[in-house]
Amino acid sequence: MPIGLFSLLFNWSLPYHDDHSTVQRKCDMPSLQPYSTFGLSTSCNMVVNFSSANEFIDAYRKFPINYIVGGGSNSIFLEDFDGVLLVNNIKGISHFDDDTHHYISAGAGENWHDLVSMCMQNGWYGFENLALIPGSVGAAPIQNIGAYGVEINQFIESVIAIMIDSGEQVRLTVNDCQFGYRDSIFKHDLAGKALITQVNFVLPKHYALATSYGELAALSTPSAFDVYNKVIEIRKSKLPDPAQLGNAGSFFKNPVISKTHFDTLVSQYQGMPGYVVSPKLMKVPAAWLIDQAGFKGKAVNGVRCHPTQPLVLTNLGHASGDDVRTMATNIITAVSNKFNVTLEPEVRLVGSQGLVSL
Ligand SMILES: Cc1cc2nc3c(=O)[nH]c(=O)nc-3n(C[C@H](O)[C@H](O)[C@H](O)COP(=O)(O)OP(=O)(O)OC[C@H]3O[C@@H](n4cnc5c(N)ncnc54)[C@H](O)[C@@H]3O)c2cc1C
Repeated sequence: MPIGLFSLLFNWSLPYHDDHSTVQRKCDMPSLQPYSTFGLSTSCNMVVNFSSANEFIDAYRKFPINYIVGGGSNSIFLEDFDGVLLVNNIKGISHFDDDTHHYISAGAGENWHDLVSMCMQNGWYGFENLALIPGSVGAAPIQNIGAYGVEINQFIESVIAIMIDSGEQVRLTVNDCQFGYRDSIFKHDLAGKALITQVNFVLPKHYALATSYGELAALSTPSAFDVYNKVIEIRKSKLPDPAQLGNAGSFFKNPVISKTHFDTLVSQYQGMPGYVVSPKLMKVPAAWLIDQAGFKGKAVNGVRCHPTQPLVLTNLGHASGDDVRTMATNIITAVSNKFNVTLEPEVRLVGSQGLVSL
């Protein structure tokens, strides 16, 4: 099917409401804890839910100092945010298929794991390796979510977004999105300029399961459901459940270093893992570097480096933004001193005025 027609079909397939956004005003400043899985005890001026592009544009113009969230699983509010939290509730899922593919379109405010599970139940396979990743459909393309050897860009046909300044709706193809490792145009040229409203996916009916990664390789002639269940089992055993222990998943990206640098490090640290990115570049697991730097299980006041996955920092319940900053900076410094490798945060850090760096 021509892509233009596909896009047209999906553009009218999701409901858009014109009713007004729900504004919650409280006497006290609203807590940000329910809107960030890390759960620091910080606040904002107001919370506004929007369930259509029009509602979003209205709210954005009314409250120019704002921060958009879906599930808040990649955002840590280090300080009280002196602005309005805009919560994406754009819903709607549609599907059709032809002989070779399933075409699925989802509103940006849909829950990612719920979408994966719904697709599995309907026999629309492909997302199984990406099960149990928290957050919204709309945030998935922003950092090109990935797990167990699969990244979401493999299944994206296009992303529908609203240009915030003009209110114009645009359709971005996979090439337009400039996907990379935990990266896309939404973190660069379109950062803060576009609201993703809908993601259009295409799942091939005939494809090879991706089972070469880690513990999935031990599965014998698995079905897509076996992979889905195994991914959930592994994730539950290794990663802290944000409902029990506040966290934002991987705090740092896995660094990519030159092959020359990698070879030097391997000669010093035998068994150092690495994955080929290109003939001249290697990706090193940040978890291994952090572990070797001695941080696994260590805590700074209310923040702990998780004992079974050192790439995850957790909120022991009483963490402050300063605890997060101190722990993250200590890790970056120690890894840099030991390996001459610079770790970069994968999480979005939000200060009183918006996004900040460490
Ligand atoms: C336990 C745990 C495990 C995780 N495992 C993985 C993993 O395996 N792989 C992986 O890639 N990630 C993982 N993550 C990170 C996280 O789940 C993903 O980054 C997810 O896509 C974030 O979705 P969200 O809706 O919660 O994002 P949010 O934190 O709400 O938003 C993330 C960023 O996107 C912006 N944004 C959100 N929605 C929109 C929109 N519609 N339009 C424009 N901008 C928007 C926000 O302003 C913010 O800057 C994990 C997180 C946790 C807590």
